[in-house]
Amino acid sequence: MQQQNWLIATLGSLVVVGCAQAQYGDISDLKLAKPEDGQHVKSVPPPKGAIVLFDGKSLDGWVKTNGKSAATWKLIDGAMQVQGGSIMTRQRFDGSFKLHVEFRVPYMPDKKGQARGNSGVYLQGRYEVQVLDSYGLKSQKNDCGAIYGVAAPKVNACKAPTIWQSYDIIFHSPVCKDGKKIAHPRITVFHNGIKIHDNVEIPVDTTRGGIGGDPCTPGPIMLQDHGNPVQYRNIWLLPLKTSLK
Ligand code: MG
Repeated sequence: MQQQNWLIATLGSLVVVGCAQAQYGDISDLKLAKPEDGQHVKSVPPPKGAIVLFDGKSLDGWVKTNGKSAATWKLIDGAMQVQGGSIMTRQRFDGSFKLHVEFRVPYMPDKKGQARGNSGVYLQGRYEVQVLDSYGLKSQKNDCGAIYGVAAPKVNACKAPTIWQSYDIIFHSPVCKDGKKIAHPRITVFHNGIKIHDNVEIPVDTTRGGIGGDPCTPGPIMLQDHGNPVQYRNIWLLPLKTSLK
């Protein structure tokens, strides 16, 4: 009898675990290249001097891309999930800064390519670091970690879908003189702590889906709604004293 009760309790908890995973995709059928691909990245708290853009509790710092309407993304367990259009920070940034973003993509095994966990992090609303489920692929210029249409990541540092990942992005805004751009922006990106771009020049004024505008003006951090329920958490920005090198 005791054994039976134990069995029921075990089955009960398995059902609960199964349901929780099913909401974001169960990756138990996915063959991982290495065990850490299935382990969440360690969350990094904002350092001293950082501007907290999303603390998991409130969307107050974010608006829709019309600049006016309140963001409508869904708050879930300290994260926000894509819903109802791309969003951007009220605050605009220029100069040099480090941006920390944690994200995860749903498991969508029946979808392929750009339809699989697509979103994106746009610096100044103009330059996209792609968010996508590119796990195990040979990364192209539109895969996860790519500067969209500009540069493929040097290595594919993706974790499996449903697993929390991070970007640490060091961004130097374009250099302008008398209102004219004289040097392109530059970007260094660490994906899950691995350097995937090293001071790459972005020779365009906006990548696809960006808000564009004068590259000599400050811009927001924008997160893309590409129709997939991608989640974000713990987003902060640290202004840097260094200028474009
Ligand atoms: Mg995208």
